[in-house]
Order: sequence, then C-alpha cells, then structure tokens
Amino acid sequence: MPIRLHDSLTRTQRELQPAQPDGVFRFYNCGPTVYAPAHIGNFRTFVVNDVLRRLLELEFGPAKVKHVRNLTDVDDRTIGQTQKEKRPLAEITQKWTAKFHADCAALNCLPPHVEPTATGHIREQVSMIECLMAKGNAYRAADGSVYFKIESFPGYGGLSRIKERELKITNAVADADHKDSVSDFALWKAYKPEEDGDVKWPGPAGASEGRPGWHIECSAMSKKHLGDTIDLHTGGVDLLFPHHENEIAQSQCCNGTTFARHWYHSEHLLVDGTTMSKSKGNYYTLSDLTGKGYSAMAVRYALLAGHPRKQLNFTLDSLHAAESALKHLRAFRAALAPVGGDETLFAPVFTALADDLNTPGALGALFTLVNRGPAGVSLAAFDRVMFALGLDLTAPAPAKTDIPAAIASLAEKRWAAKQAKDFASADALRKELTAAGWSMLDRKDGYTLEPAQKQPA
Ligand code: AMP
Ligand code: ZN
Repeated sequence: MPIRLHDSLTRTQRELQPAQPDGVFRFYNCGPTVYAPAHIGNFRTFVVNDVLRRLLELEFGPAKVKHVRNLTDVDDRTIGQTQKEKRPLAEITQKWTAKFHADCAALNCLPPHVEPTATGHIREQVSMIECLMAKGNAYRAADGSVYFKIESFPGYGGLSRIKERELKITNAVADADHKDSVSDFALWKAYKPEEDGDVKWPGPAGASEGRPGWHIECSAMSKKHLGDTIDLHTGGVDLLFPHHENEIAQSQCCNGTTFARHWYHSEHLLVDGTTMSKSKGNYYTLSDLTGKGYSAMAVRYALLAGHPRKQLNFTLDSLHAAESALKHLRAFRAALAPVGGDETLFAPVFTALADDLNTPGALGALFTLVNRGPAGVSLAAFDRVMFALGLDLTAPAPAKTDIPAAIASLAEKRWAAKQAKDFASADALRKELTAAGWSMLDRKDGYTLEPAQKQPA
C-alpha cells in the first residue's frame, strides 16, 4: 500500500518512493545529541521514525531501505558539558550513547543501518566546507572560522518560508563573531582554548584549527552514507529552522542538486502544555518512568497514541491506559489460532498508517478488531501489525506494583505544586498520598512512588 506522508517543503501529502534505479529508499533521521540522557520527548521523535522505518520495510522490502541516523557527538552542547564536568568529550558522549542505545532497545526501535558520528566524519565535513569556499558560498572570518554566506543561496528560506527581512540580511560586518551578515551561520568554528579544551581538528584550507558547526555534520554524513540526493529527511519540528534550512543550503550549494526529496517533521511531546526539554528541566527519561514501575512498551504505546503531527501532552494516566491496552493485546494474541484466519482483516490499520502515519487511527482500527474477538483472525496478520507498530508483546510487563491512576494523578499534582513552590498544597497532597498508603520520594529531577512501608505495630 503506497505510503503517503506530509512533506514540510511542499506542505502537501506525497507518496514515498525511492528515486534511484536500485530501488533503495534512502532515509536520514537526525539523531540525538549525546551530552545527557535523551528524554521521552526525544523518543517520541525516534519512535515515530521507527514506525516509519518499519512501514518502509513492509512496503519496499527490508533490503530496500537504508536508514541512517547520526550521533551528534561534538557541538556547543557536548562541549559545554565537558567544560561543566571537566571530563574528556569522548567519555561523556560514549556514556550517553550507550544509554541512548539501551533505551532504544527497550523501546523496541530498530537500529539504523548506519549510525555515523560527527567526530568520525571530520574529513568529510572539512572537504564539504572547502567545496563551499571554492564555490563562493562560504568565507573565512577574521578569527579563522568559516561561515556560510546566506545571500549566495537564493533558495534560502524555502523550507521554513522565512522572509528575507526576518533574516536581517546586512552587508555590514555584523558582530563580534566576525561574520559578514548577522544571519550567516558557522560551518567551522575556530578553536577557543578557554571553551574548547582539547577538542580541535585541523581546519579547512585557509581556516584555523577548530571544530565543525552543527549543521554541516548532517550534510556531510548524509552525503557520505546516502549520496547527494536522499529520499526522505526527518526530525522533530524544532529542527526545521535553522538546522534543516541550513542543511539544504550547504548540501545543494556543494552538490549542485536536490538534497532531500521529502521532508517530514513530527511534533513535540509536551508536559503541562509546554515542550518537554532538557533546558526547561521538565522532562522524564525512560528510566524515570520504568523506575516508577511502568514498562518501556507502555511508554512506546503512549508515544504512538497521539497523531505524530500534533503536539501530545504527556501524562502518567496515558501510561496506565497503555499498560491496559497492552494487556488486552497480549490476551488477544494468546487466543489466536496458530494457523488460518483472515489475512486481510487488519487492512484498516495499514490504511491509517499509510495515510500520513496516523498512529492513533491505526490503534483505533486495531482495537475495533480486537474488541470483536479473536475468531477468524490470522496470527501472522496480527503479528505483522505488531511489527509495524513495533509493539513487542513478549517484552516484560510492569515489574513493580501497579500504581493506581488516582495515586499517580495525586503524585503529579503534588510534584507540580512543589515545582510552583506552592508548598502548602504540596504538603496537603503528600498527606493524601500517605493516607492512601503511598510514599513519594523526591529527587532533584523527579520522584519515585512506592507503597508506604508498613509501620511496625
Ligand atoms: P537532540 O538530542 O536535542 O538533538 O534532539 C533529538 C531529536 O528529538 C530531534 O529530532 C528533536 O527535534 C527531537 N525533540 C526534542 N525535543 C522534543 C520533544 N519535546 N518532543 C518530541 N521531539 C523532540
Ligand atoms: Zn541533523
């Protein structure tokens, strides 16, 4: 069934098709910045992309999909973290890469076929910057950094539709960054010993030693592993501008051809109406949630329960609903006859997925069938649906005591009150929790909820 997906560039739904005669679908998904744990907002993006990857495999065949997802292991944030912790960059990025991999596995995300690192592709980035300098799209600034000259690319702003006046293009030497224009962006950042510690590489010809800018990393890694033109480029909505706009500028000026034939951006996960983010500190990691007794599979399910192109507000209640949905699916599967059954019954699930990755529509269609009962349902067809959604029904169900929804909701209210420094309400809510037999242990970045220890008689 052809997969139709919203394309952020044309703002229309378009069918996904490989362009190359080898029939391989080339798919690039911007990966995590490995300086801290990925939160479940980040994982919303990666889980949505995982369903896309699975659908592409079902559509074109597993051997005809090439999925690349990078690791951003050098940039302002990773370097900032080495400064904070006074530890080598590689030590920090390896630690968080390992955690990211463990969380991806727990969430049943298929590993990408290639997972390139920015530090492993310095040569490719340097040569791309040299190409842009040679073509007049980039220039060396006084401090030895290299900037992309936005004025040199008439197509700039095509993805984000940002207007020229919003870009504040000026020809004056703009600021202390030694750029020609305030909106030009860095391709290469000259070494600053006080900020960069020992993180530096020899620069492009004519530039200083230093390190790459964030945007050039993805242009160079996608070129290396997927070629000049890719079939699909994805990321969270915050990457659309400037990251993806800048990738288009760099890649198209250097390669002289279309960079990505299709752009897809999924929306953010929110907490209490605001974007979950590391800088806001309002985030949950997967471990925070498994620590509260929820299963990783329930987290995956909850992340798929909202339409990927709409913001989704995360609540612990949604995890309760997810655990119970998974329980139903396990029981349903167990009741299916090992052979036989109608292979076509689940067509509405795939119709929903192929229609702009409508995951809530797919789950709705699935439960319409599940609620009808297992008679005449093909196990193989059911397992194909579980594969597409990436729901592993053999994965461990919640290990710890199930927390009743009312208790979870009290705890959330108390945590919110405490964050808002409304200590009177927080104390009152703690009393309610204690009376109900639960104890709430606060940490700096979250809390755990446990059945209260029985008082000795
Ligand atoms: P980062 O590790 O910050 O580079 O982000 C990794 C991916 O997570 C990117 O595709 C971001 O767009 C995405 N992302 C960041 N915050 C959220 C959020 N709250 N909800 C969904 N995706 C997010
Ligand atoms: Zn990227």
